[in-house]
Amino acid sequence: MFYDYHVHSNFSPDSKTSMTKMIETGINLGLKEICFTDHMDYDINQTDKFVLNYKDYLYTLELMQNKYKDKIKIKKGIELGLQPHLIDRYSNEMKNNQFDFIICSQHAIDKNDLYYDEYFKDKTQQKSYEIYYKTFYDIVKNFDDYSVLGHLDLIKRYGPYENSLGDSLFMDIIEAILKEVISKNKGIEINTSCFRYELPDLTPSRRIISLYKDLGGEIITTGSDAHCPSFIACKFDYIQSYLKDMGFKYICTFDNLKPNFIKL
Ligand SMILES: [Zn+2]
Ligand SMILES: [Zn+2]
Repeated sequence: MFYDYHVHSNFSPDSKTSMTKMIETGINLGLKEICFTDHMDYDINQTDKFVLNYKDYLYTLELMQNKYKDKIKIKKGIELGLQPHLIDRYSNEMKNNQFDFIICSQHAIDKNDLYYDEYFKDKTQQKSYEIYYKTFYDIVKNFDDYSVLGHLDLIKRYGPYENSLGDSLFMDIIEAILKEVISKNKGIEINTSCFRYELPDLTPSRRIISLYKDLGGEIITTGSDAHCPSFIACKFDYIQSYLKDMGFKYICTFDNLKPNFIKL
């Protein structure tokens, strides 16, 4: 059984696919649940489009839940683009809107979208990564209104470099992030977009997943980060057996921000 907990629709400006199309593809694939996590990103210099209208979005999701209630469970999720100065704003907004599931992602630093090279200018590659992880630590230390961390080592995907840097240089700070996540009963996601970007490792890396396990982490969701139908539940069969082989017993789904543990 598959549960895709990271799916976008055209409520996100970087997707052209309607919710209906994503849902019907999910039904055809036999998914048990699909959780929409459209983007909410304030304060990114390169764009001002990633601002979601909560009311329209939640209203549409409720219509879809009703329409498809006999075929698939549809969950109300969101992917927040965190930056330290947005913590209070997001906290308030998450308390005033009813979501099932909230992904805490970092897409921009100092308002610079990591997708573009501006952030990496005037920094070494190592420094760029260090700031990314330290800022993530800052965020998880001070922000509680989320369910899982999104694509934890996303930084490896970006910057004007031939290769990404391995985890060894940053293990201390990554460990501190994971400890904070675990102590607050939050989780991480396995983001299978790594397959469509043809990355050499998973997202987050096998090493980070293994550290999460060693530290006692149990809350894991599976998300394709699909922005179009063809990537829904991408490689979930592989990921589920990989997690099982590693000794994880469950993957999680969420209702009203509370995790349900589904046996692998
Ligand atoms: Zn993201
Ligand atoms: Zn996403």
